[in-house]
Amino acid sequence: MLEKSNELSAWDRDHFFHPSTHMGMHARGETPTRVIGGGEGVYITDTSGRTSLDAFAGLYCVNVGYGRQKIADAIAEQAKNLAYYHAYVGHGTEASITLSKMIIDRAPAGMSRVYFGLSGSDANETNIKLIWYYNNILGRPEKKKIISRWRGYHGSGVMTGSLTGLHLFHNAFDLPRAPILHTEAPYFFRRPDRSMDEEQFSQYCADKLEEMILAEGPETIAALIGEPILGTGGIVPPPKGYWQKVQAVLEKYDILLVADEVVTGFGRLGTMFGSDHYGMKPDLITIAKGLTSAYAPLSGTIVSDKMWQVLVQGSDELGAIGHGWTYSAHPICAAAGVANLELIDELGLVENADSTGAYFRSELTKALADHRHVGEIRGDGLMAAIEFVEDKDDRVFFDPAKKIGPQVAAALLERGVIGRAMPQGDILGFAPPLCLTKDEANVVVKAAVEAVTSVLGKAKAR
Ligand code: PLP
Repeated sequence: MLEKSNELSAWDRDHFFHPSTHMGMHARGETPTRVIGGGEGVYITDTSGRTSLDAFAGLYCVNVGYGRQKIADAIAEQAKNLAYYHAYVGHGTEASITLSKMIIDRAPAGMSRVYFGLSGSDANETNIKLIWYYNNILGRPEKKKIISRWRGYHGSGVMTGSLTGLHLFHNAFDLPRAPILHTEAPYFFRRPDRSMDEEQFSQYCADKLEEMILAEGPETIAALIGEPILGTGGIVPPPKGYWQKVQAVLEKYDILLVADEVVTGFGRLGTMFGSDHYGMKPDLITIAKGLTSAYAPLSGTIVSDKMWQVLVQGSDELGAIGHGWTYSAHPICAAAGVANLELIDELGLVENADSTGAYFRSELTKALADHRHVGEIRGDGLMAAIEFVEDKDDRVFFDPAKKIGPQVAAALLERGVIGRAMPQGDILGFAPPLCLTKDEANVVVKAAVEAVTSVLGKAKAR
């Protein structure tokens, strides 16, 4: 057993190019290989037998938890009956057609069709192409720029990496590319003037957006893309009134809104979609992760009826749309999606995300908000973040070289709980499976207190 594990570690160091990993440290064996062998409920187990409570649900995606027989059976059944057939020129399977109906039934009002992909990144690539196509069909070829927000995360492709507003994803890749622009992040904790209340800061963000639109020329701006709550950028909920004020600006200049719900779709905020949670009225919605709870790779672009009518006109003028993936609506992934959405309903996971999420965030706040190096504890539904600061009054981050976020995440893992050191700033994120119980939430909070104390001391505020 040990021999096998050593062999796997060696193969891993020598042959496996891991995403989002320090390549040199990993290849030199300075960061460990952890071989994950199994999962049950909110726990994963590695091949050395060590179990961890996964309070980040993989990459906020294993929403129904690990080891769900119903989804495994649906996948196996579909693989036996028909592992693959494409979806081009009107082909479908029972699973893919059923899933598209289930998605539209659950989606916010005004949504019409689903275009399937495999990852959040490719779904956002589809969004960009559909937006450009839409404006070409409407005879306004200059209306092509897409505005994203600093700290937004929308994927790792060339265009979606450009939409992403985190420096790590741009550095040395020659990103962002035109025609992508970035506007202010709705990051209330780090607003430029602390005398602003939430509504005032929302107005400030909307004003900044309008300034950018006017400076660029409204006739050149096609869309704004945003996650209902910033995820990878630090789990930052929008300040009060933010989406309403932003949408008013977009409507004024005939600019489309894309809600990137890769993380928030299918229950994470305690509502089926984040758009409903915050009163957004998007023209396109990106979905992935929670669509299958990551039991199989599947994403989608949900298209509003308003856009669909123009896309149909495009086909009538130009012929079939020239955009397709071999694996679009892959039957095995679609079968996983159908079983997953049924399970979310059967287990009442959307409601659980609401109630257990509120409990978890309130316990975390009670336990840690007073700590002198905790600047803010925030979140919504089953998403939470602790932001660490060197100085509570000035809100300055620690020197990044101290790696406080990763240190706390490592201390947490030593205590049997997985959280995520978010990539920009010392921010520890939590997004556990939506089936988390209150007892499991207590385990996470206790480990978080111990981990923070071990790295930053016990001291209370002032
Ligand atoms: N959009 C959001 C909001 C995400 O959080 C992610 C991934 O974390 C993506 C898009 C990209 O999804 P994928 O990694 O499946 O390409």
